[in-house]
Amino acid sequence: MENIRIPEKGLEYKQVLEIMRGYKKDDANYKDSKTWSLVYYLGEEYTQFLKDAYTLFFSENALNPIAFKSLKQFEAEVIRMTANMLNGNENVVGTMTSGGTESCLLPVVTYRDFAKAKRKIWIKKPEMIAPESIHVGWEKAAHYFGVKMRHVPLDSTRRADAGAIEKLINKNTILIVASAPTYPHGVVDPIEDIGAIALKHNIPFHVDSCLGGFLLPFVEKLGYPVPKFDFRVPGVTSMSADVHKYGFAAKGASTILYRNMDYMKYQIYVYTEWPGGIYAASGLLGTRPGGAIAAAWAAMNALGQDGYLERARITMDTTKKLIAGIRSIPELEVVGTPHMSVFAYGSRSKKVNIYAVGDQMEAKGWNIDRVQKPMALHAMVTPLHERVADKYIADLKESVEYVKSHPALATKGNAALYGVVANIPFRGMVKKNVQKMIEEMYGKDGKIPGTGAEEDEPLVMKIASRLLTYIGRFKV
Ligand SMILES: *Cc1c(COP(=O)(O)O)cnc(C)c1O
Repeated sequence: MENIRIPEKGLEYKQVLEIMRGYKKDDANYKDSKTWSLVYYLGEEYTQFLKDAYTLFFSENALNPIAFKSLKQFEAEVIRMTANMLNGNENVVGTMTSGGTESCLLPVVTYRDFAKAKRKIWIKKPEMIAPESIHVGWEKAAHYFGVKMRHVPLDSTRRADAGAIEKLINKNTILIVASAPTYPHGVVDPIEDIGAIALKHNIPFHVDSCLGGFLLPFVEKLGYPVPKFDFRVPGVTSMSADVHKYGFAAKGASTILYRNMDYMKYQIYVYTEWPGGIYAASGLLGTRPGGAIAAAWAAMNALGQDGYLERARITMDTTKKLIAGIRSIPELEVVGTPHMSVFAYGSRSKKVNIYAVGDQMEAKGWNIDRVQKPMALHAMVTPLHERVADKYIADLKESVEYVKSHPALATKGNAALYGVVANIPFRGMVKKNVQKMIEEMYGKDGKIPGTGAEEDEPLVMKIASRLLTYIGRFKV
C-alpha cells in the first residue's frame, strides 16, 4: 500500500462518501442473499430504521451510565427482555457487551475470580472444560486469561459427550461451557445432562447461546423439537445471546446473563486510586457506543415476539427446504443433527470433493464458508434466504454433477488448497503461516491477500487465507 497520509486539506463530505462507496465493490454480496455468514440482513426499510435508532444515540457514551441514563435504561430493558425470553426468573442479572466474543471473554474472568474467592483451596492452574465444537472465542479467552482449556470429543450427532465432561472435572475446574447451538454444526449440546453434572460437582456452567439465543426460543414455540437449553435447566449459571445475530440489531450488541448477582459481581472491575478518578466497568470496554445499545433496544421493540416468531418460521421453513434439497443429492450429507438454521454439509462420495463443490458454487456467485473436521460447506440461514433457496439447491446439484464429471478439480485450485490445510498433520506449520499472513496484513506494506500480485503469495499463504472464516474470505 502507498504511504498514505491524512490529506493536506480535508475533502468535501460528498467526495469522501463517494470514495468510500467505491471501496465496496469487491465486498461480499449480502443484499441479494448470496452470502451465508457474517450478515443478518432483513432488507433496506428495516436497516434504515436501525440506522435511525443508532444515530439518535450516535455520540452518547455508555462508559458512564449515570451521565446517559437513557442508555442505562435501554441496557436494563434489553437484559430484562432477554432474561425473560430465556426463561430466567427475576434474580437473573446481566450486562450488554460489544459482541459474542466479549460475551465469551468475560465469563472466563468472572468464574476464574469466582473460584478464587469461593474455594477453600488455592487454584494455581485454573481449567475450563468445553466440547471441541465450542466457539473459538472461548479458546481465545482461555489463552488471554491463563486458563487451561480441556476439550471433550463429540458424538456421532456432533453433540458433546456429557460423560466425558464429568471425567475431566478436577479441583482446578472453574467452568464448564457448552453451546446452544454450536457454530460449526448448529447442534444443541446435551444441556440438561451437563447441567446435572455441573450441579453435582458444584461447578459453574455457561451456555453459549450467542448464535441461537434469539432464535431457539421461537423455534421451540413453533413446535420444533428443541432440547431444553436455557435457565429452566437447574445447573446453568449463565448464558450469552447475541442481539446482533438473530436479534437483528446493529453490530456491536450481545448480552451476558447470570443466574444471580453472586456470580455477576466478579465481572465488575473497580479501581479507586487512578488520578483520573474512581473507575468502575461492567465489561471489557471503556467507551461504549451508545448507538449499538440503542439499536438493540429498538430492534427488540420493533420486531416484538410476533416479529421474531414470524421470522423464525420463515427461517426454519427455508432451512427445511435446503436440508431436504441437500439430502436429495445422493453424494452429499448433512453433518450431525442440526437443531436450527445453521448447518454444515459434506460429501459421502469419494468422487466428490466438497471443497471443489464450494469452488463451483463460488463461481456461480455464492459466498459460502468452508469448515473443517469434517470437511464441509457451511450455511447460516436468514429469512431473506427464502427467495434464493431453490436457486441454491439447483446450483448445488449442478456443482456436484460438474465435480463428479471433472475429478481432477479436487486436486487443483482452491479445493486442493483447502483439502491440504484441513488435513495437513503439521498444525504448527499452518499456525505459523496464518500468523505470518496476519502480520503481513497489518505490517508496513498492509497487504490484503488476493489483491496484489498473486503469484508472489507462497502456496501455504494462499491456503491459509481461504480458511479464515472470522478474519475474512479473500479471492486468491
Ligand atoms: C458468533 C458466535 C460467537 C462470537 O460472536 P461474535 O459476535 O462474532 O464475536 C460466540 N459463540 C457462538 C456460538 C457464536 O455463534
